[in-house]
Amino acid sequence: MNIALIAHDKKKNDLVQFAIAYQTIFEKHSLFATGTTGLRISEATGLAITRFQSGPLGGDQEIGAMIAKNKMDAVFFFRDPLTSQPHEPDVTALVRLCDVYSIPLATNMGTAELLIRGLEQGLIDWRNVVKENGEINEG
Ligand code: PGA
Repeated sequence: MNIALIAHDKKKNDLVQFAIAYQTIFEKHSLFATGTTGLRISEATGLAITRFQSGPLGGDQEIGAMIAKNKMDAVFFFRDPLTSQPHEPDVTALVRLCDVYSIPLATNMGTAELLIRGLEQGLIDWRNVVKENGEINEG
């Protein structure tokens, strides 16, 4: 599975700790991340991560492009709900694309726990079927 990891600055420590806790699951998958988040997680865990631009410089949109191309299977996006973000339109667009394509999205630790355990138990294996069938809404 292709998995995206993104955390706003005040949530980066949480996502790093989460990645450490579930490293044995994450290492079975292909990981993608916005620039700083990816660097922090790879430094803390040694996990191989494809890093995009930093979020405010377009990284969220790069991950969104993968979703639109049916190439992203789950998104862990630890948003900071208490701080305004300069790239709020990009944040909204990314969340919207997850909804457009029914991509599992965890925006906080509580849901992330469910998603990672679901991932481990094969509960989002239906994504393989979607990808094999090339099912994608082309409008
Ligand atoms: P970053 O981007 O990982 O480069 O900090 C995340 C974001 O703020 O969207």
